Amino acid sequence: MAELANCRICGKPIIASENMLCSKCYKEREEKFERVKAYLRIVPGARISEIERETGVEGGMILEFLKEGRLALLHPDPSVDLRCMECGEPITTGLYCEGCKRRMVEELKEASRKEKGRGYYSRDYG
Ligand SMILES: [Zn+2]
Ligand SMILES: [Zn+2]
Repeated sequence: MAELANCRICGKPIIASENMLCSKCYKEREEKFERVKAYLRIVPGARISEIERETGVEGGMILEFLKEGRLALLHPDPSVDLRCMECGEPITTGLYCEGCKRRMVEELKEASRKEKGRGYYSRDYG
């Protein structure tokens, strides 16, 4: 059964979805995304405050696009809260810095190796 929620921008009742936006706000957000993306294509080294001023898109929303990994800054912008969730290093896109991402991938691989190993032994001796 579909779960009801409210659009997180205008508050309109909607069917709960991953982005929690009504179709109107979703469309507007995508349009803003395109505007920011176009601006970054022209000025790749732009800071968030500058993008906000030039495109009229709220800084908080630009930050969301960056955290979603849909946009990337050329340089980390220390004036915004875009930091690796693991080590706190300023980053340019997504949620983690390159070093932590690599380490997490390694840990995942390691865990799945151990998982497989356990499965093998429990099958043999269990
Ligand atoms: Zn809405
Ligand atoms: Zn990190």
